[in-house]
Amino acid sequence: MIATNKKIWLSSPHLGGTEQKYVAEAFSTNWVAPLGPNVDAFEEAIALYLKEDVHVAAVASGTSAIHLALVLLGVGPGDDVLCQSFTFSASANPILYQGANPIFIDSEADTWNISAALLEEAIIKRIQKNKKPKAIVAVHLYGMPYDALAINQISKKYNIPVIEDSAEALGSEYLGIKCGTLGDISILSFNGNKIITTSGGGALVTQNKELKKKAVFLATQARDNAPHYQHSVVGYNYRMSNVVAGIGRGQMEVLNDRVLARRKNYQYYRERLENIPGIYFLREPEGTKSNRWLTTILLNSYEERERVRLCLENENIDSRPLWKPMHLQPVFKNALAYTNGVSEMLFDRGLCLPSGSNLVEEDLEKVTNLIKNTLLR
Ligand SMILES: *Cc1c(COP(=O)(O)O)cnc(C)c1O
Repeated sequence: MIATNKKIWLSSPHLGGTEQKYVAEAFSTNWVAPLGPNVDAFEEAIALYLKEDVHVAAVASGTSAIHLALVLLGVGPGDDVLCQSFTFSASANPILYQGANPIFIDSEADTWNISAALLEEAIIKRIQKNKKPKAIVAVHLYGMPYDALAINQISKKYNIPVIEDSAEALGSEYLGIKCGTLGDISILSFNGNKIITTSGGGALVTQNKELKKKAVFLATQARDNAPHYQHSVVGYNYRMSNVVAGIGRGQMEVLNDRVLARRKNYQYYRERLENIPGIYFLREPEGTKSNRWLTTILLNSYEERERVRLCLENENIDSRPLWKPMHLQPVFKNALAYTNGVSEMLFDRGLCLPSGSNLVEEDLEKVTNLIKNTLLR
């Protein structure tokens, strides 16, 4: 018998079909450069999807978009930046690129995202020390919107801008507003494992036209207006290429389907597993809609989590522990942190299940049965 154990991936690229048409256009018109009609059209498609009057700058990655956001907000050496601890390291690394200090904020239990209470406590304590933080990085982790009302209220009260890390949350909504438009500056990612992909890429989103212009200026080496090459500020080579943007145009055409498929995965797992003792699913708080980029579960203990993870691994099924909080990462060992135990608990007991929009029912059934059998054993 032929081995039927094909790999089931956590989240793999899922092309729609029209991507190659746009990529071919880039070749046939010789727009194989970090500007061109695909870049313009991709930016327009994202803006149209998100909200009226937003401005989008397509860049090389979500990470570079966060870096540009920090530069645009004037974050520099020695500044403090508050950052959600429970996230992927790319939310925090650009703070170090700027020579600034990340201060990590733990999560709330309802959304697993940045705790408003801890955030305000940190701000008050830093202001008492005459070190008012320069920015807040908040993240919609796994597609679940953070409590934007509470976070924006704190941001306004203390006049500290929010960088909205929406890398995992394109297609999610908070009170009917699309994630990616909730911060002073927002960022998206089109990395290979995200809800849509350009093979690699990102975007910076802002409601301010001038800020977009400035972002593009910085992302294309910050060249002054002169016939020769003249530079007054530090520039970056962060612009998205017109070839890659062609993939993005095709992906935008199927974004709604991808969100539906991921939400269906979550629904499938939850319906079949939530009545088993010792397994817990994160619910959407009222007024929020998650794109369910990844379906995540909590088990009763680290040992249970490992039992499930290893059992899936044995069957060639990809699953992954939840993000390790940044305040526990060796690279950030010197950073201050305001903690409450939530993110450490999540890291201990949480697991991401295969969640790609290209999974078929047979895959989902196999994963579900394995988890059920492991937990009931
Ligand atoms: C993927 C991701 C990023 C970085 O995006 P890239 O396009 O991979 O650079 C940033 N933040 C979060 C939460 C992410 O998941």
